[in-house]
Amino acid sequence: MKKAIYPGSFDPPTLGHLDIIKRAASVCDELTVSILNNIEKKPLFSVEERVKMLEEATKDIPNIKIDSFSGLLVDYARENDIHVAIRGLRAITDFEYELQVAQTNRILSKEQLDTMFLITSLEYSYLSSSGVKEMARFGGDISMCVPEFIMDMVYQKYGIDKSKVK
Ligand code: ADP
Repeated sequence: MKKAIYPGSFDPPTLGHLDIIKRAASVCDELTVSILNNIEKKPLFSVEERVKMLEEATKDIPNIKIDSFSGLLVDYARENDIHVAIRGLRAITDFEYELQVAQTNRILSKEQLDTMFLITSLEYSYLSSSGVKEMARFGGDISMCVPEFIMDMVYQKYGIDKSKVK
């Protein structure tokens, strides 16, 4: 069975993440989407909220598991017998960071965890969770960026009245 893991912050999950999830799920038997519980970041959504969002947004994809982890990805992958990590690449600016993380994980895991990259679909190449939060906080329209129920949750966090969104 070919298992893969798509790790990330998903704060919140965007249509760009969901596109990568669908495409990754179509080329492996089981895809675990796992939320990194990074104590150094101050997320907008709790891990529990992000698990619920991802579960709802991927409910039509049969071979998906949603989970969370803290600590090293290589440890989590070893414990779950997963040898492939999936990451999305948007622009060249993602590349340098991703290259470093992928090589570190390969070495740390003694070549037991390799990373595969999916290139973003053109229509989502500009999308990032931080961009979505920045737009929403100031009442910008994020309907093109996230599923509708996530849009509602983001506006609610910032106390933005959806009917006043420009
Ligand atoms: P992290 O904090 O680990 O970078 P993110 O949730 O921001 O977590 O991103 C998780 C992964 O999804 C990363 O590989 C990132 O490059 C990728 N990603 C984010 N947005 C997009 C997008 N619009 N299209 C393709 N990949 C994306």
